[in-house]
Amino acid sequence: MNKGKAFYEGKAKILYATDDPDLIIQYFKDDATAFNAQKRGTIQDKGIMNNKISEVLFKFLETEGVPTHFVQRLNDREMLVRRLEIIPVEVIVRNLIAGSLAKRLGLEEGGLLSRPILEHCYKSDSLGDPMINEFHIRALGWATDGELREIEALSFRVNALLKDFFDRRNLMLVDFKLEFGRHHGKVYLGDEICPDTCRLWEKGSLEKLDKDRFRRDLGKVEDAYQEVCRRVCG
Ligand code: UDP
Repeated sequence: MNKGKAFYEGKAKILYATDDPDLIIQYFKDDATAFNAQKRGTIQDKGIMNNKISEVLFKFLETEGVPTHFVQRLNDREMLVRRLEIIPVEVIVRNLIAGSLAKRLGLEEGGLLSRPILEHCYKSDSLGDPMINEFHIRALGWATDGELREIEALSFRVNALLKDFFDRRNLMLVDFKLEFGRHHGKVYLGDEICPDTCRLWEKGSLEKLDKDRFRRDLGKVEDAYQEVCRRVCG
């Protein structure tokens, strides 16, 4: 597999073409941003840990029948994935009240929701990922009705599977973000699943083991990623 040109650089990853038009390489950086990139920093070895954590989680989801873009991990920082035509929507799934939900509705963080909440945001850094709903997505032609139903079903299924996966590792899956795309007409789960994109709290102590340690200057940021990596990959 020959690595070609970088064709996209995001906040946490660089995407490279390969000699196979169906496959690309996802390179994980240590760069961290928060609050729409107003806060910037690095988390040492984050890219290595997120690559490994995402590999384990994508493999687990695949074995449970969830189609993901994952093909194989190539090395410490690179993963071979299917090239997706990204649907410009971030899907957020919530099990507990936290982050922007707590802020938006004036609710205290940590409250348990009686059932999971699914939210959609338009994937646009310049607009700060504004919240939208399924009507926007259909009316603007970002996904079809059928694709939206598939994305919703997959998101709830991924939530049930990951909640249980993390629970067995003594972690609560508070909320997380998913991205989907098309590949030869089928919907696949893309991007990454890691402490950058999930809120994970230690059961009992409720200690935060995710990117909120960076966002909120809580210290021990690297330790939190290492701990999640140890529990997920260990
Ligand atoms: N999230 C993400 N990327 C984004 C926005 C959110 O990965 O651009 C994740 C975030 O890590 C959290 C969940 O989605 O696990 C819900 O985030 P929230 O809406 O509470 O926003 P935030 O608190 O990050 O502003």
